[in-house]
Amino acid sequence: MKLARLPAHRVLGVCNFPSFYQAMASAQHIVKLSPTAVELVDRTMIDLARSNPAFQPIIDAALIGAPEAILLVEFAGEDAGGTQRARLDRLAELMGDIGLPGAVARITTAQAQKDLWEVRKAGLNIMMSMKGDGKPVSFIEDCAVPLEHLAQYTQRLTEIFREHGTQGTWYAHASVGTLHVRPILDMRRDGAAKMRAIAEEASAMVREYKGAYSGEHGDGICRSEWVAWQFGPRLNQAFAEVKALFDPGNRMNPGKIVHPPKMDDASLFRFPPGYRREPFAPKLDWSAWDVQRDPVTGVETAPGTGGDVTGGLAKAVEMCNNNGHCRKFDAGTMCPSYRVTRDEQHTTRGRANTLRLALSGQLDGEDLSGESVRAALDLCVSCKGCKRECPTGVDMAKLKIEAAAARAARNGLPLSERLVAFLPRYAPIVSRIRWLPALRERLPGAASIGERWLGLAAKRCARPSVNPRLRTTRKCCCSSIPLPIISSRKTQALRFTY
Ligand code: SF4
Repeated sequence: MKLARLPAHRVLGVCNFPSFYQAMASAQHIVKLSPTAVELVDRTMIDLARSNPAFQPIIDAALIGAPEAILLVEFAGEDAGGTQRARLDRLAELMGDIGLPGAVARITTAQAQKDLWEVRKAGLNIMMSMKGDGKPVSFIEDCAVPLEHLAQYTQRLTEIFREHGTQGTWYAHASVGTLHVRPILDMRRDGAAKMRAIAEEASAMVREYKGAYSGEHGDGICRSEWVAWQFGPRLNQAFAEVKALFDPGNRMNPGKIVHPPKMDDASLFRFPPGYRREPFAPKLDWSAWDVQRDPVTGVETAPGTGGDVTGGLAKAVEMCNNNGHCRKFDAGTMCPSYRVTRDEQHTTRGRANTLRLALSGQLDGEDLSGESVRAALDLCVSCKGCKRECPTGVDMAKLKIEAAAARAARNGLPLSERLVAFLPRYAPIVSRIRWLPALRERLPGAASIGERWLGLAAKRCARPSVNPRLRTTRKCCCSSIPLPIISSRKTQALRFTY
C-alpha cells in the first residue's frame, strides 16, 4: 500500500458567498490553487449549525456577514505555515478578482480548523435534526458532475425541487463535483411520488452532463434502479451472471445493482404512506417536537400543532435517523450500556426503534408499557450522553421516564422501585434500627432472597451508616467493591447499590 505522510501544516480559508450559484461557479477556479479540500456548507446547514449551542461559536467565527453558502478551502503541505498562509493570500486575491473582496475568513490554528471540520462532518446529522414530518431524503445525494457544469447543475436541480414544492440542503465535496443534496420530503404523505419524479429528472440531467448518478458511495437499493446506464447493457449482463454464479441463492445483498426493486416500493419504507401512530397521552411536555416545518421557507409551526396524536412524544422518538453514532467506541459517553453488552437492543438507536414500533402499533400489540420496551430500556442508565452527543439530540433518559410512567400506570410501582424512590422518607427511621437491614448480611440466604425480590445485588451490602462524610465512596463491609453512598440527611445514610 502506498502511504502518504500527513501534511505538517494546514490552513483553512472560508470563502463566504452571497449566493449559492456564485459558490458553485467559483469551485472550478478555486481548485486551480491546488487546495487539499473544497467543501460546501449551504445556508440551511449554517442555520441548523447555529441553532446548536455547541456549534454556534465555531460556525460564527467562519462567517463574514450573512452568506448563502460557504466553501471551506484547505491548503496543506510540509512547508512552514508561512507558505500556507501565502496560499490563503492567493485565495483572497482570487475572491477579489471574482468580485468578492474581503470574503475569506482565515482559520489558522489547528484547534479552530478541527472544530470547523467537525461541524462540516456533522453536517448530515445536523441536517437530519430538522423537526416535523418532512425530512431530507437520500436518493440523489451521490450524483457527481464535471466542475464546469456544477453551477448549472445545482441551479437546475434547485428549480426541480421548487417545482415539487420543496428544497434541498447541500453540502460536501465541491472540489470534485459531488454534492450531497437531500430534498426535504414527507414520505408519509406525497413524498414517494415526488422522490420518483425528482430522481427521473436528476438522472437525465446527470447523464446529459456526462456525470455519474452514484459518484462516491455505494449504489444501494435506492440508487440501483438508476445506475444501469452508467455501466451499459453488456456490463449489467455480466454483473448479473457473476452474481448468479457466486450467489445462486441470491442471499448476498439482494436487490443491489443486479435486479433492483423500485426505489419507491413502499414496503421498504420506514415511514410508508399512511404511517400511523397510536394515540397516547404523555406525562411530560413533548410539544416542542409536535411541529411541522415548511420545506421551502423553513418556518416551523407553533409547538403542539404538528398533528401528533402522542403530543409530540412519537416525533421526539422519530428524531433518531438510525445514523448509528451511538455504536461508536472512540470517545464521549454515548452509549455506556451498548459498550458493555454490544447488543443493538441496548444502543440509543435500538431503544428509539423499539419505542417507535410501540408508539405506531407495530410491536405485536405491545404499547409503551410492554415487556419489549422494558427490556430495551432496562439497562439505560439515564446518563444523558445521547442528549449531548447524538447528532439529532435524542434524549433517551427523558423518553425512559415516559415508558416507566406508562408501566407504572398499568402495573403499579414494583417493590424494588418503591424502596429506592421513597428512600429519603424512611432512611432516618431505618438508621435508628440498623440491626434490621444488617440481618440481610447475617442470615444465610437473606441476601439472595433480597436480590430475587428487590433487585439488590446479593454481593453488595445494605447496612445503615452513620458518618459525617457521607458523600465519599467507601468500601463495602462484605466485598472489596467501592460503594456509592446515598445520603438522606446530613448525618444519616443507607447505602444501596443495585
Ligand atoms: S441515556 Fe441511556 S440511551 Fe442515552 S447514552 Fe445514556 S445509557 Fe445510552
